[in-house]
Amino acid sequence: MSLTQEEKIWINSQLDEIISLCQRCKSEEDRDLITRSFNLANAAHSKMRRKSGEPYFTHPIAVAKIVAQEIGLGPKSVACALLHDVVEDTDYTIEDIEKQFGKTIANIIDGLTKISNVLDKDASLQVENFRKMLLTLSEDVRVIFIKLADRLHNMRTLDSMPEYKQIKIAGETTYLYAPLAHRLGLYTIKTELEDLALKYEHPLIYREISTKIKETQEERESYIKQIIDPLKSELQNNGIDCNITGRSKSIYSIWNKMQNKNVPFEEIYDIFAIRIIFKSKNGISSEKQQAYNIFAIITNIYVHHGERIRDWITTPKANGYEALHVTVMGPLGKWIEIQIRSERMDDIAEKGYAAHWKYKDGDDDAGNLESWLRTVREQLTNTSEDALDFLDEFKLNLFSAEVYLFTPKGELKRLPKGATALDFAYEIHTEIGDRAIAAKVNHKLEPLSFELSSGDQVEILTSDKQSPKVEWLDFATTSRAKSKIKSALKEERLYNINKGQKLFINKVKELNLKLTHKKLIELREKYNAKNKEDFYRQIGLGIIQLDDLELQLEKKDSSVFKKYWTLQFIKKAKSSDSLKLNKDKVYLINNETSKKEYSLAKCCNPIPGDEVVGFINRNNIIIIHRKNCNILNNLAAKQGDRLVTIEWGLKKKKSFNAKIRIEGFDKLGILFNITKEIYQEANVNMKSINLNSNDGIFSGEIELYIHDTKHLDKLMRDIIRIKGIKSVVRIDDSEKNK
Ligand code: MN
Repeated sequence: MSLTQEEKIWINSQLDEIISLCQRCKSEEDRDLITRSFNLANAAHSKMRRKSGEPYFTHPIAVAKIVAQEIGLGPKSVACALLHDVVEDTDYTIEDIEKQFGKTIANIIDGLTKISNVLDKDASLQVENFRKMLLTLSEDVRVIFIKLADRLHNMRTLDSMPEYKQIKIAGETTYLYAPLAHRLGLYTIKTELEDLALKYEHPLIYREISTKIKETQEERESYIKQIIDPLKSELQNNGIDCNITGRSKSIYSIWNKMQNKNVPFEEIYDIFAIRIIFKSKNGISSEKQQAYNIFAIITNIYVHHGERIRDWITTPKANGYEALHVTVMGPLGKWIEIQIRSERMDDIAEKGYAAHWKYKDGDDDAGNLESWLRTVREQLTNTSEDALDFLDEFKLNLFSAEVYLFTPKGELKRLPKGATALDFAYEIHTEIGDRAIAAKVNHKLEPLSFELSSGDQVEILTSDKQSPKVEWLDFATTSRAKSKIKSALKEERLYNINKGQKLFINKVKELNLKLTHKKLIELREKYNAKNKEDFYRQIGLGIIQLDDLELQLEKKDSSVFKKYWTLQFIKKAKSSDSLKLNKDKVYLINNETSKKEYSLAKCCNPIPGDEVVGFINRNNIIIIHRKNCNILNNLAAKQGDRLVTIEWGLKKKKSFNAKIRIEGFDKLGILFNITKEIYQEANVNMKSINLNSNDGIFSGEIELYIHDTKHLDKLMRDIIRIKGIKSVVRIDDSEKNK
């Protein structure tokens, strides 16, 4: 449908808006570039609409604004954001773009198009696609930034998508995009992505926490004011120009804390942090001095926690973050975190690497980021690893804390916390890793498995005779070290298999032996080899000597040998991916639905009335999970193309399993009251009951046979009314799989 007059007017007003948001757009040339890309994309998308009904071009406009304002990139990136879906969705080709906008922009658009081809369209092998995507991403870092902006806008407008797509997209966002944003230091975007993903993955939790944040806001604000006011005047008296705020944590991070510490919302004390952002006086070099000065002034008012000072100014985080974090004792005896940053540091904290560029005259290179991208590229091109393993490890590396280490020459290396001397060896060079025999840590001899701590100086001792060992995989922790060891082992294995096979064939020829298949299997058994690869490998390694081969066999026709003993590396055939179900349709579970078509997930025990999503497994059976099941969320991230929307349509009452956890005070007769309520009043059968009591408090789990959520809710309401009961919650096993 063509655009209405009103829509046209709005779109035309957006060009100036975008240009004014792009602070790095200064010259006439810059404005011209944005104008030309705006006009081309506007024309190209003019007949398209989004799922929500809005003109399609509203999407590229929104992405361009995010790129300009929220990430702070320059005119080239803004132009690319405007053009990002043109090649993908319209008749324009990449050659057209190159002709009009040059090579750089065409390359970025090409990268973005490739990503959406592998990721958004062809959904058959999602995990493999992530790898391909990252490979494309690493060619020009701006591709990552624009893709993140694209994803952010899609998350902001996810409401108009069908449910199974929401879950898939939200899953990918938690799994990959939020960690990527974190790694690139895009703190604000990372936080928003996480919160939005939570909103779709765990809608009830999201609503509950956001309501509670709102409800407690007033109280919190007055407490923050109580802390800030004396700080303000003290800092002012010392002539420090700064801005002090108290900010609430994100919904996602509060939820994470609740889960990790297993506490309710009310018991999360550090729900906010105080932030002091100061105007730097004498340039970047004295910022650290100024931050410590502010810290000293704070301690005039509040007592600080001696052990909790984190100096990210001296050694910035790998994503570029700089700040001084201290914890002080506030009013009402609560510990409060105070973050001290210069305006420059704050900019970097919010926008990450993109902001770094501002402070480096016109140079688009950010040292750390480049070296990280180099590592990513290396890992990606190393194909020895299973795609899923790779991605899991890669993801771990995105989020892990770090240790700072030094080479004997004083060069700084960063490794994830828990890294060993072997990881360090591989970090320096593959060759050093492969040949490592031990390490000198702070001049003391240590084994390769030694776990390093920040500040260690590490020297790796090598030997030409050394080669990677299988056992090394037990204590290599970085994905780089692991993949290098695996590929070396694989190479070594293949080398020995080939060598052994040649030796064997030559020996058989030399003796002119005739071998039947049966004889060969017998032979293998005599030499204690598991299979033919193992047999050859052992020959190659010299473990099996062929000197007595003749003794073992009679002479027969040797042609049989070749037929059976040519090495074959048959790749395991992929199991059939064919899905007969139409995923775009809502799948209705009613009394007629065959039990062969679906099954209820054991991890989360869904019951009618629950918000559920179906996952089509390898055998084409729909496994029904609750929408907030952690296992489902994990599946959604990796194999989101297998999700279907489910609706309950059961008319006859059936029984389903549900588990509840009850807590309360251990009063006399309470167990009797609970069971009476369940059996007699509600007439519900129990599958199992398990109660523990300790110091007057009891807790326990009860498994019930229940019809649907209404039935369960009513029962839970009745139980909570029993005297002495403090809480009743529904639980499931997927919680353990966080
Ligand atoms: Mn897009």
